Amino acid sequence: MIPHGRDKAAQFLEMVLSLEREIEGRLSLPPFDVDEATIDSRLSSGVPLLNLEEVSIDLAEEVFLRLLKIGTEMGEGLSEKIRLARDRGEFNFQEMVKKFLRGEMPAQGDEALFIRFLLTMSLRPELKLRTQRLRKAVEDKEWLKGCCPVCGFGPSIALISDEDGSRYLCCSLCDARWNYPRVQCPFCQNQDHNKLGYFTVEGEERYRVDLCHLCGGYIKTVICQSPREVSSEVEDLASIHLDILAKEYISGGIPAI
Ligand SMILES: [Zn+2]
Ligand SMILES: [Zn+2]
Repeated sequence: MIPHGRDKAAQFLEMVLSLEREIEGRLSLPPFDVDEATIDSRLSSGVPLLNLEEVSIDLAEEVFLRLLKIGTEMGEGLSEKIRLARDRGEFNFQEMVKKFLRGEMPAQGDEALFIRFLLTMSLRPELKLRTQRLRKAVEDKEWLKGCCPVCGFGPSIALISDEDGSRYLCCSLCDARWNYPRVQCPFCQNQDHNKLGYFTVEGEERYRVDLCHLCGGYIKTVICQSPREVSSEVEDLASIHLDILAKEYISGGIPAI
């Protein structure tokens, strides 16, 4: 998936983040326009503000190709393989994005996981920029779902305030944050604490991974002082080793606390 070896993975992720910063720095695109009345009525009926299948994310393909180039230059075999497949016309990028957004993309295997990672990173800069107003608008609104109130996508990471214990989920695509109950799985809404657990790694006490024994889902969690100021992508990418551990916990049936 990500280049193997901790130094190489860190170097790759640093390049991914610097590409994202570069793109965000030069983007000038119109914000998504949803009026206040629509915001209120959609949120109160449990409908996200945007339907991602109806908006065009123009920049995603350029970012996708640049990420593949970075991976190829670092000798990351899957990047080269995907790039060659695209050059041979074996897949259509826009179709792949639609499948991904509909949740129809496979989630198992190194290649599928790597493509999902690339697509997430490719869609994110434009979505983050164009949803600034909408993300602000949902901050203090009630939304009890596990999917993002702005774009409907799933969370990448959770944040827990060490001051008041409140928990926020962060959208993996647009970076919206919303308050969510502490004892509830974001993926299946399970609230039975006997079927929820977590694990921590020695020396990395600011992270924990919450697991749900009912649906097999997990979410990485950062315990921090000011959840609104934490960069979710930096935390998500810096803790990729916890994704691997979480999958081992789940597939091995290792009981968490
Ligand atoms: Zn979102
Ligand atoms: Zn669950």
